[in-house]
Order: sequence, then structure tokens, then C-alpha cells
Amino acid sequence: MIAIAVFVLCLCVLVWYRATRKRAGVSLVAADVSGGGRRWTLRDPRLNVVAVADHVLGITDAGGHRVMFPHELKPTRRARKPYTADVVQLGAQMAGLQAEVGSKFAGFGILEYSGGRQFRIEWNEQVATTLERAVGLVRTLRAARTPPPRTHNEVHICQHCPVRDSCDQRLS
Ligand code: SF4
Repeated sequence: MIAIAVFVLCLCVLVWYRATRKRAGVSLVAADVSGGGRRWTLRDPRLNVVAVADHVLGITDAGGHRVMFPHELKPTRRARKPYTADVVQLGAQMAGLQAEVGSKFAGFGILEYSGGRQFRIEWNEQVATTLERAVGLVRTLRAARTPPPRTHNEVHICQHCPVRDSCDQRLS
């Protein structure tokens, strides 16, 4: 079942990528999920964060220069506006890409939810500040001697939590 879901996801990405490429001269620079290309770990030494986007894509900007942006897929998300956690994740990718390529960074990233709904997120002061706060919070929590109390009673959140194996407050 998981294999079928992954296959369908890859197929959708490939169809999306080819259709979009036709429309806007988009090229695939790096990929973490499908479509070929190399996997690219984006590093921002200032914040000391690393991130890997599902895709790094290239386009031609208004001035005729080739620039790049991260594209992150969340195929099971259904929402009218992007989740803050997803914006933070994309923000880390944008910060890393900007640190890696400088002026060849397009200045935005794309989040794509279920049904192909896309959100263009600009790399601006607000996103940079949100990312910095999130990074600071994670570091503070990691340095704490005792973990903070659980803030929810939702089993499914714990089931998908990346640190559930080492969490003594998990619900499943
Ligand atoms: S497993 Fe622990 S850290 Fe993860 S969501 Fe549940 S309570 Fe929170």
C-alpha cells in the first residue's frame, strides 16, 4: 500500500514537473523525492541549520537570469493557508539556498498541498524572524534538562512525531 502511494506521488510529481516546465521553462536542479537530479543538502552557516527540499527548481526571472527556488510537497495536507510549521521548514530551505547560491536564489519558495494547491512563500523579514525563533526554541528545548509537558491529547500527533521513540509522554 505504501509502495503504491509512493509510486502515485512520484508519478504526480513527474507530471507536475513536466507540465510546469513546459509552461515556465522550469528545470529540475535537485530532487529528494523523484524526477532524477542530485540530492542537495542546503546549509545556512549563520543559523547553523541544514535542510533538504523535495525539489530545487530553476526558472528564468524577469531580468533573464536563471534563479532557483525550493519546492516542498505535502500531498496529504488539505488547508486554505499554509501551516506555520511548513513555512518554517520551507524557510530553512530558503535560508540554506540563499546561503549557498546568493543572488541566484529566486527570493521565494513553493509549498504544494493536496490537489496541487500551491502557496508561494516570499523570503522576507517575517519568514526569516519566524525561522529564527523556531530554531531558537528547538535549541532551548534540546538544552533543557526536563522536557516540556505535552500540550495536546491527540494520539495521531504522537504517532507521526519524529521523536516519539524517545518521548516518555507519547500517547501511542
Ligand atoms: S511523542 Fe512526545 S514530543 Fe511527540 S507529539 Fe507526542 S508528546 Fe509531543
